[in-house]
Amino acid sequence: MNMISERMNGIEEAATIAVNQKAIDLQKHGTKIYNFGIGEPDQTTPLKIIEFAFESAKKGKTHYTPSKGIPELRKKISEKLQIKNNIKVDPNQIIVTPTKYALFIAAMSLINPGENVIIPEPYWVSYPYITKLSGGVPLFLKTTDDYEFDEDRTRRSFNDKTKAFILNNPLNPAGKVYSERSLRRLADIILENKNIYLISDETYEDIIYEGKMFSPASIPEMAERTVTINGFSKSYAMTGWRIGYMTGPEELMKAANRIQEHTMTCASSVSQYAALAALDDTETPKILKETFLKRRDLVIDLLSESGSLSFYKPEGTFYIFPSYNAIKDSNKFAIDLLEKKHVVVTPGSAFGAQGEFHFRISYATSLETIREGIPLIVKYIDEEVG
Ligand code: PLP
Repeated sequence: MNMISERMNGIEEAATIAVNQKAIDLQKHGTKIYNFGIGEPDQTTPLKIIEFAFESAKKGKTHYTPSKGIPELRKKISEKLQIKNNIKVDPNQIIVTPTKYALFIAAMSLINPGENVIIPEPYWVSYPYITKLSGGVPLFLKTTDDYEFDEDRTRRSFNDKTKAFILNNPLNPAGKVYSERSLRRLADIILENKNIYLISDETYEDIIYEGKMFSPASIPEMAERTVTINGFSKSYAMTGWRIGYMTGPEELMKAANRIQEHTMTCASSVSQYAALAALDDTETPKILKETFLKRRDLVIDLLSESGSLSFYKPEGTFYIFPSYNAIKDSNKFAIDLLEKKHVVVTPGSAFGAQGEFHFRISYATSLETIREGIPLIVKYIDEEVG
């Protein structure tokens, strides 16, 4: 008898562990590390959000809440979805829960064991594991050089076992922002099938420099086929509060809420009040975006010094995903870069096969770190990879 359940087969530790461990070891010995690995804003949550949450807690908002979340927050989210995303939903179709957990309960309530989930590459690292934990089978869809969905390839990836398609827009790791035209084309292909659902992860919607956010659930025929997932982590520097939300067809949200009831109970009460204050704050997402834009432009300028790196110019997120000449695989590349230049990046293979010979830079870090650290990457490339 094995102690560990078979469900855990193929559920691996984060691919970044080796690099992070090495970085910690080097830091212990006093080495200065330039960290472009961490995928979270470096800012602290705005004080007025913290204070509102704190005051709410002092007033006794420290109890269980309804499992879907406090009514005033769900109402505000439904208004936000209507105004910003053109998604019309009743507050009852909204569940407040950590963003990543929303993805998990969406998969758990949609996917039957053995059903296929289409995950375009490069993908955010947790999608395949969330799929596997739900019993589903992740199938990876190669995208074009500029991360578009090839129509024929997408169509061919669907069969009668396909249940879901996971879309991440704006895209972690490449910073792609999909146009309305691309997304309508994708929706048309999904709608050619009767039983395929879209999980639309819109976590980075506020960090768009060029282009415009388009939510597939705003297409009337897609409303009944789409689970839209979002959160407060990236827009308001609130990663530690663990708060986000999901919306979708009523029946599916009822099912997802049963999982929430029996596992999470409800999202943290204090964090829900923080989210309530965040929704009144339209300035912070703009300020963060402007900050990231300056950093993006500096990163691009500095990376362009290398003749042998190429990258898609990110239109959103705080990531860039350069590729290098295929001399060593991306895990070795990341470890070697850390050992020789003390720079942390995320190996591209963590984001799927299409990410091999790439690395992800998170520029959610200071201009000073960027100014000092990115030239070290360029130097490493010139010396080692050529
Ligand atoms: N989706 C994407 C694409 C992400 O990059 C992340 C976090 O990095 C999440 C979801 C999860 O967000 P949270 O930490 O708010 O649960």
